[in-house]
Amino acid sequence: MRRPRNIVILTGAGISAESGIDTFRGAGGLWENHRVEDVATPDAFARDPELVLRFYDMRREAIQTREPNAAHIALARLDREWAARSGGGEVLIVTQNVDDLHERGGALNVLHMHGEHLSVWCGACDERHRWVGALLHRPPCPACGEAALRPDIVWFGEVPYRMDDIYQALAAADLFVSIGTSGAVYPAAGFVRTARELGLQTLELNLERSQGSAWFEETRLGPATQIVPEWVEELLR
Ligand code: NAD
Repeated sequence: MRRPRNIVILTGAGISAESGIDTFRGAGGLWENHRVEDVATPDAFARDPELVLRFYDMRREAIQTREPNAAHIALARLDREWAARSGGGEVLIVTQNVDDLHERGGALNVLHMHGEHLSVWCGACDERHRWVGALLHRPPCPACGEAALRPDIVWFGEVPYRMDDIYQALAAADLFVSIGTSGAVYPAAGFVRTARELGLQTLELNLERSQGSAWFEETRLGPATQIVPEWVEELLR
């Protein structure tokens, strides 16, 4: 591959799997024993808010007991060192993950396109707040006092965050890398196609070939904790 300057990295649940956070589709399309339609849609929240809030309260609590793994730490190193190594190049980590393991691994430029477990969003005043506790007991919004907080998660049927920023970053990049994502959830699954149309180099790092694998110029298979540090090492060499 030619030496890149600006790099956009898309990560999915697979990068956090070895930290002990379940992937989405891994277990027969169930997420932690729940059907997606029952916990990750606006309809589900309207129908059974207690089930949805309890589900996200458990996930929010669980991720705080997990630690970043070697793959998160390697990407954070790339993020911090790339500008100096490449003469001013940029790295953007676009993650579909709602955990905070990239940040706790030390990464600075992380865009959470599907929201974050440790953030809540008020349906009354539209403010967002960092949140580590529970929502089931319907606590008041710190800004407006209304009991209208929901997980700051982009549910199926909702529009992912900061799509304009992502497409702008792709347009300015030379290399698109996809790590630990199944290529099943759009619009993220379409980024590789956009990248190819824009003439970027494309690389997939995954445990097994993703649904969009044929779009990538190069695919490397293996556990993220092994192949991501190897790739970063190669790039920084
Ligand atoms: P996915 O679960 O659909 O796919 C996971 C992918 O990771 C698969 O292709 C699998 O082969 C690969 N994988 C599994 N273990 C791996 C490992 N050790 N190393 C490298 N690759 C590995 O995940 P997705 O594509 O991210 O899409 C699912 C949606 O689920 C996303 O929208 C995301 O918001 C949500 N989700 C997030 C988390 C999280 O925040 N950690 C966890 C589960 C689901």
